Order: sequence, then structure tokens, then C-alpha cells
Amino acid sequence: MPPVPVNRPSLPRLARVDWPAEAAHPSAATAAAIAIAAELLTNGQLVAIPTETVYGLAANALDPDAVALIYRAKGRPPSNPLIVHVADTAMARQLAADWPEAAERATAACWPGPLTVVVKKSADVPDIVTAGGPTVALRCPAHHLTRQLIERAGCPLAAPSANRSEAISPTTAQHVLEGLGNRVSLILDAGSCEHGLESTVLDCTVVPPRILRPGPLSAEHLAAALGAEVTLAALPEASGPDEPAIETDGTPREADTAARSPGQQRRHYAPQTPLELLAADAAAERVSNRLAAGERVGWLCRSPDDATVHRLAASPALVVVPMPNDPAAYGRMLYASLHALDHRELDRLVADAVPTDQAWAAIADRLSRAQHTGSR
Ligand code: AMP
Ligand code: MG
Repeated sequence: MPPVPVNRPSLPRLARVDWPAEAAHPSAATAAAIAIAAELLTNGQLVAIPTETVYGLAANALDPDAVALIYRAKGRPPSNPLIVHVADTAMARQLAADWPEAAERATAACWPGPLTVVVKKSADVPDIVTAGGPTVALRCPAHHLTRQLIERAGCPLAAPSANRSEAISPTTAQHVLEGLGNRVSLILDAGSCEHGLESTVLDCTVVPPRILRPGPLSAEHLAAALGAEVTLAALPEASGPDEPAIETDGTPREADTAARSPGQQRRHYAPQTPLELLAADAAAERVSNRLAAGERVGWLCRSPDDATVHRLAASPALVVVPMPNDPAAYGRMLYASLHALDHRELDRLVADAVPTDQAWAAIADRLSRAQHTGSR
């Protein structure tokens, strides 16, 4: 009798791709994985890719059917546009109807790197990529493996973060596997991401250019690169993610942040465990109260050597995660810490607030969006 076919969903193939920065060429195994990934992408499939920010869920940006798979795999609302990854500035310019001075200067100074520029889109960019909008977000990643993959595939790659919509972005291949499972054909595993936070998004269609999403490159850094002023869009008011932005008299706000930066809902990047963001003193008090109420608590703590923290940490119901005092180091471990805490069956997470200066803006933004009080 012929064997009965087993109808088991195929697991994604996870390919380890090492390529040390000092090596001019990838190993044979890495080159083979890049070739397979490129072939899958040109055949309209999804591949999770490492970048220096977070892992991306990539598809051929010029293939609307492939891009539709990204939205389906993520459960992403169709109103939330995607960032298109390019191998170089020449590829970016082909996708832009207009290349303003600000885009030229910013990309000359910061590409390849964690900067996304928003410009008017060319007719080559399918509407599904930009959620029907007239602008496109473009980035040339610093990760040399990713640029090699784009060149090999011969097409720009639409690639949002490789997580389900609203969840925490993945900074390791394991996070991608846990979040997307068999919704992706192949995961290229290049270890932990260098920055661990999503790119800075700069709207170059307005004068002065405006940061729509803070990221690893600060406003000060961009202003110096541009030799000009850069403004920072405000975090949307504390409204639900789908509530339209309106003036107090009820009319829609024309140039509102939410309209210019679709997808930047107030709640985004959130762990499953409810998280509260509090000033350090208030955080210690909150942790103490919740432990006394019998809860299991995780604490992203910026002063782990404090006597109060030591006293509280004696409780087996408390998991203290010491967080660095340097914003780059903090950014690198924030999502990995939230992913790890989500596995600990805790009732609540508490995070110490971070400084208000520009260097911490991206972290303050992500922590603020990670806050929620809903139950698991
Ligand atoms: P991610 O899931 O991290 O790749 O998020 C991509 C984000 O880039 C979106 O949620 C938007 O906030 C932003 N973005 C992408 N395309 C555009 C665009 N055309 N205009 C403004 N923001 C954009
Ligand atoms: Mg995302």
C-alpha cells in the first residue's frame, strides 16, 4: 500500500547565514542560502531577512501579489504602508517621482544605514506597497548580506518588520519563527540585530523635513547631516489605534501626524503582558504594591544596584532585567528583553522611564507605544 501522505504544515526553513564584516565574500553555505532566498523572492514568496535594525519580512516590491502575502502573514491593516529596501541610491531614485534636496543629502550622509526617506512615488511602485498613498518609504540597509540579496534578486524588497501586526519587532531569527511560524518560506538567520530598533523615518516631501518615527539616527544627527532644520512629529494623542484624528470641532486634521505617518498608532510594538511606564521612584512603588497583591512582575530597571531594587528582587515573583544607561545598548536589548519577559507567564511589566533628551527619543517612543493595561 502506498504511504498515506501526511498533511502537515511545512515548517519554515531557517538558514544560518554568517558573513563576517571583514570577509570580502560570503562562505559557500551563505552564498547558497542567498541564492535560494533570491529565487524564492523572484517567485513571489516571502523571506525573512536580517537587517541592522530588526528582521524584515520581505517580498518583491514590484509584485503586488507577493506584497499582498506580507499583509496576510502579518495580519497588517491595508492602510499601513511598507518600507521598500533598495541596494543603492540609484535603485531608490527609480522608485521616486521626485528626489528632493533633503533626500539627496540625508541618503548621501546616512545610507547604507538605519534611515528611511519618504518621497513621492514613481508609477513603478504598486499602490499596495504605499497603502494607496502618493509617497513611498525607501531604505538602503547597512547589512551587506541584505544588499547582496537585493542585488541577486534584482528587485527592491518591500519589508516591514517580521512580526504579527502590533507585536514586538523581531531582533533574532528565533523571534521570527515564534511570531510567524510557517507563514514565511525561509528565514535567513544572521544572529542578533545591531541596532534592535526600527529605522528613523524622515518625510522629505515637506520643508523642513520631518521625522515621522524616531529611530537609531537622532534628529540632531540628521540636522547635522542635512545642514538644515529637522522637525519631529508628535506622538499621536492617547486615542485608540483606529480612531480618526479630528479637530475639536469635528473636522479631520489635514496635515495630521496620523495621516502623514500611517501605521504609527499609539499602541504598536507591544508585548502581550500589560506594561506600565513609570518614573523610577513610582516604578519601585508600583512593583512593590503589585508583588504585595500577589502578582508576578517583570521590571525593566535602570538602577539595578539601588538598595530598594535589591530588597524587592528577593521576591521570587519578581524578574528584574537590568537595562543599560547608554541609549544604543538599551535599544539593542529592549525588544529581546520584552520577548523574553513575554515567555515568563508574568501578570505585569513595569519599565523605568528613560531620559527626555534626543538620544533617547526612539526608546521613549517605543516604550510609550508598548504600554497597555489590557489582560493577556
Ligand atoms: P515597519 O512595520 O517597521 O516596517 O513600519 C513601516 C512604517 O513606515 C509604517 O508603519 C509607517 O509608519 C512608515 N511608512 C511607510 N511608508 C510610508 C509612507 N509612504 N509615508 C509615511 N510613512 C510611511
Ligand atoms: Mg513593524
